[in-house]
Amino acid sequence: MRIDLHTHSNASDGTDTPAALVHAARDAGLDVVALTDHDTTAGWTEAADALPAGLSLVRGMEMSCEGRGESGWPVAVHLLSYLFDPTHPEFAKERERLRGERVERIRVMASLMARDGLPIDPDQILADAGPSVGRPHIAAALLKAGVVSSIGEAFTDLLSTRGRYDVPKYDTPIEYAVELVAAAGGVTVLAHGRARSRGGVLAVDHIRDLAGLGLGGLEVDHPDHRSEDRAVLRRLADDLGLAVTGSSDYHGENKTIGLGDELTDEAEFEKLISVATGVEVLTR
Ligand code: AMP
Ligand code: ZN
Ligand code: FE
Ligand code: FE
Repeated sequence: MRIDLHTHSNASDGTDTPAALVHAARDAGLDVVALTDHDTTAGWTEAADALPAGLSLVRGMEMSCEGRGESGWPVAVHLLSYLFDPTHPEFAKERERLRGERVERIRVMASLMARDGLPIDPDQILADAGPSVGRPHIAAALLKAGVVSSIGEAFTDLLSTRGRYDVPKYDTPIEYAVELVAAAGGVTVLAHGRARSRGGVLAVDHIRDLAGLGLGGLEVDHPDHRSEDRAVLRRLADDLGLAVTGSSDYHGENKTIGLGDELTDEAEFEKLISVATGVEVLTR
């Protein structure tokens, strides 16, 4: 079984429509794909309606959270959430709040850039984005305007969290997020937990705390993890009885990675989803 549990459509910062994404997943030989757009479930229905025969769809999301880093300071953390009930009121409200934070942040970042003379239009960027806007939408505008020659180049300086245009947003405290997803019948996996290129990473003792609160798994095989990162996380998952996942974090044209470039073991997948009660895995 070929299982990829982390992908983005144009409901957030990927470039494929949800329908195109599930077809591309089948073409890539996947048996199971999870749609995990940032802070939105807006792509679920289209992906489900377009689901090709032979492919199973795990409806999910990647939630923007804040945790405690190795240095003790807060760090941005991404929490993959699967098979939760999208109508759970408190959770739906929190997702909406996060998307509002995204809009304000991107508006301010893009406005600061435009004020400095960069040829981008903040209103146009927001109008072009789907329900969940992010820095890749600014990157795409910079690329189109010829300011940078690739999406990656936009992130090395202009869009870096260490750069002059960085604007913070208020993400969900990760303990609360883990409990909220569980309350909605879903399961959670810490996304790319050792990917240092994005900034600080969660302290290991904080990961232990989250396991105590119901965290279901650790994303071990991710394109941004080196082999030593994977080894650390695999040992930790084993120690804490957490499921181990692997996934591409596919973003269409916004990243160079392909669907199925990293995969999850079938037994780990079954272990992970066994406790989910929110919505079913869909199969046509
Ligand atoms: P945001 O959600 O607005 O903070 O933007 C973060 C998103 O930008 C993540 O989903 C990443 O996939 C994407 N991203 C971060 N760094 C890069 C990079 N170097 N190249 C392409 N995409 C990136
Ligand atoms: Zn993304
Ligand atoms: Fe992420
Ligand atoms: Fe992602």
